[in-house]
Amino acid sequence: MFKQIQYRLLISYLIVLSIILGGFAIAVRVVFVRSLTAQVFEKLTALGAGAALSIEIDNGKLKIENDGSTQSLIIQKQALQWFDARGQELARQGKSVMTLPFSSHQMLQVQEGQPQIQGVTLPVLDGDHLGNGKQLVGYVRASQSLEEVQDTLYRLDWGLGGGVGFALLLSGLGGIWLTRQAMQPIEQSFQRLQQFTADASHELRNPLMVAKSNAAVALKYSEGMREADAEKFKAIASATQQMTKLTEDLLLLARSDRFPEHYWEKIDLSNLLHDLVKLYKPKAIDRSLQFTAKIPSSLQVIGDEIQLFRLLSNLIDNAFHYTPILGKVTIQAIQHGAQIEISVEDTGVGIASEHLKQVFDRFWRADQSRTHWEGGSGLGLAIAQSIAKLHGGQISVVSQLEQGSRFTVRLPTTR
Ligand code: ADP
Repeated sequence: MFKQIQYRLLISYLIVLSIILGGFAIAVRVVFVRSLTAQVFEKLTALGAGAALSIEIDNGKLKIENDGSTQSLIIQKQALQWFDARGQELARQGKSVMTLPFSSHQMLQVQEGQPQIQGVTLPVLDGDHLGNGKQLVGYVRASQSLEEVQDTLYRLDWGLGGGVGFALLLSGLGGIWLTRQAMQPIEQSFQRLQQFTADASHELRNPLMVAKSNAAVALKYSEGMREADAEKFKAIASATQQMTKLTEDLLLLARSDRFPEHYWEKIDLSNLLHDLVKLYKPKAIDRSLQFTAKIPSSLQVIGDEIQLFRLLSNLIDNAFHYTPILGKVTIQAIQHGAQIEISVEDTGVGIASEHLKQVFDRFWRADQSRTHWEGGSGLGLAIAQSIAKLHGGQISVVSQLEQGSRFTVRLPTTR
């Protein structure tokens, strides 16, 4: 149980941490990409502005007198293109020339591909690139391959991904230690509570035994006793009987995780089920219940016979208890590979669907208005579940109000 809580705590902690770290990594990447793009934009704008100065108008014709170094453009994987006012390309220079059609509306253009190319288009006015109110004579488009930017981003992604992964790994290891530390006091106080329940139940057994035997002795020699007094002794005997069962149940549950496995042996469940059928047959006749059983001949499991008997008798007891006369109770066992499935089905009062989750809780009873002495203690199914789990199995229920219930126990054949 504690291992499961610890595991869930660790998983929740890691989920929260990965969301925070993932968010942080995405934010870093977005900021980085923006600043890189802005840097390239500024570089290209400066390059384009320089190239715009090289356009001259000679006798009404555009003339390009660029004295910039082509070598430097090639090294920097940059290119320049000159266009006239109608968008006709006049000249080009450098590497990574943009092939996208010229656009006078888009100042910034990005050409997809491997590598991506970013281009910035600037207007040239009257041969003077920044002249106000002057005539538009052409355009300059400066472009640059984004290979380096992509390389940088690729390294950034690996760095961030690796960093987040490493941080999660370290946090996971730290988390294991932390959750263990956090669970320790809870586990200790739970064990103390369990020990207290076991001790209290154990200590209660002697005084109960005394009360029970004294009531039995008094009832044995009841001649001469007033009728009313005999009734009181009967009530005491019945109450002590119930309390003895309750303390035994509590003791069993408190020690359920400490059942020594070395007492376990190979058990033939079909024999055990046949014994139970024999035991309950008279009760079925007494209550006019149709009691049938379908049990195959050999069903081997490894476990504690007394506990398994207790598990199954709790289920059959309940089926009898919650089924009105003339109802049906059916026991069925079947082996599926390495698993044995035993079901106890009745046509009794059933359990409301909203209560199905609680039936295995300690002290839970559908009819809380009845005192514990009228029915059971509400521990029977908790005990059954604890025994099933201890044997590596599980127990489940399907039920419908006024229709009946089916409790199914699944046990592994091997350990
Ligand atoms: P109890 O001692 O009260 O029977 P259990 O733990 O065995 O305690 O059962 C818990 C509650 O589950 C019961 O009080 C009853 O309301 C419900 N229940 C158990 N078995 C059946 C059944 N076969 N049919 C209907 N209700 C059941």
